Amino acid sequence: MLSWRGVIDAYRSFLPVSAATPVVTLLEGNTPLLYSKYLSQGLGEPFQVYLKYEGMNPTGSFKDRGMTVAISKALEAESRAVLCASTGNTSASASAYAAKAGLRSLVLIPKGAVAMGKLSQALIHGARVAAVDANFDVCLELVKALAQRFPVTVVNSINPFRIEGQKTCSFEICDVLGRAPDFQLMPVGNAGNITAQWKGYREYLRYGRISALPVMLGFQAKGAAPLVLGRVVAKPKTVATAIRIGNPASWQGAVGARDESRGRIEAVRDSQILEAYRLLAQHEGVFVEPASAASVAGLLMLAKRRYFKQALRKARGRGKKREPILVVCILTGHGLKDPERAIQSVRPIRPAPADLGAITKAVGLA
Ligand SMILES: *Cc1c(COP(=O)(O)O)cnc(C)c1O
Repeated sequence: MLSWRGVIDAYRSFLPVSAATPVVTLLEGNTPLLYSKYLSQGLGEPFQVYLKYEGMNPTGSFKDRGMTVAISKALEAESRAVLCASTGNTSASASAYAAKAGLRSLVLIPKGAVAMGKLSQALIHGARVAAVDANFDVCLELVKALAQRFPVTVVNSINPFRIEGQKTCSFEICDVLGRAPDFQLMPVGNAGNITAQWKGYREYLRYGRISALPVMLGFQAKGAAPLVLGRVVAKPKTVATAIRIGNPASWQGAVGARDESRGRIEAVRDSQILEAYRLLAQHEGVFVEPASAASVAGLLMLAKRRYFKQALRKARGRGKKREPILVVCILTGHGLKDPERAIQSVRPIRPAPADLGAITKAVGLA
């Protein structure tokens, strides 16, 4: 078997690179597509639910797919420094790829709102980090203002190369399933990812790699749901820090994906997010960060409303009788990014003396 050489090598003809582009890669992509028996049984026949575990990327989130392209293009353009605003994962990814490329990385984060794992990544990769006394949306405005004045490359998803790279997630899903899924569910924050993946599916359709498109289902946290409310949220609030965004940069892209695919963008409560977070860890053996669990929280919510059963009736009407209905949930980032949240979300550890009787009780054997 040929070894994997990263998403630029794998999908070169779909990406804005040439032979002259110096490829900066940490061998991102090629992430697991896990079949979930538990969630499939929950929906019932003929549904099959798969989990695309993007936490398995080199820096632990899907951001690496976009970053390999953005940093390679920055290097090609002879940029010396890259700049981003971040709820954490963009800065972790940008700093790692910049380190590999020999570029400086500059990061603005909302003070106190970035998980420790992500912050530690940016710092150890050598980024200059400013913790700004403001939320993500303000940080992004500051980044845009800095980029007007200084010769730095912005690597937020307003950089079109980020979107291009992130398309490769949908390519991989189609390549593994042999077709597009019927439904794709994903968390939505700044909305670059849903924009990118929808673009990916459309390109695969245009080039004949697939013959139908998925319905795109996006989920925001209830306290940070500008796309659901149809207006900017000035003070977004949620435990899912990666999607704590009140004014998504790719607003139009998300609305386009929703409407063109006849999908939905809905809000899930923090309690639903945390329930799905524990469910994934305890039934699937998959540890994700809270934002990632929004896709599965959304799946459970729509299942309860019988959304998928109704979709099935429609599909059967179109004569797809025996075929399985494929559902993919994107798990955007790794759980180790935010271990504190995990420990807070379960029963506390019991201290026990080194005594057989006490320990028998402590581990629940008596
Ligand atoms: C960035 C990120 C998101 C949100 O993606 P957008 O492109 O901003 O919508 C969701 N989950 C994780 C883990 C992320 O890092």
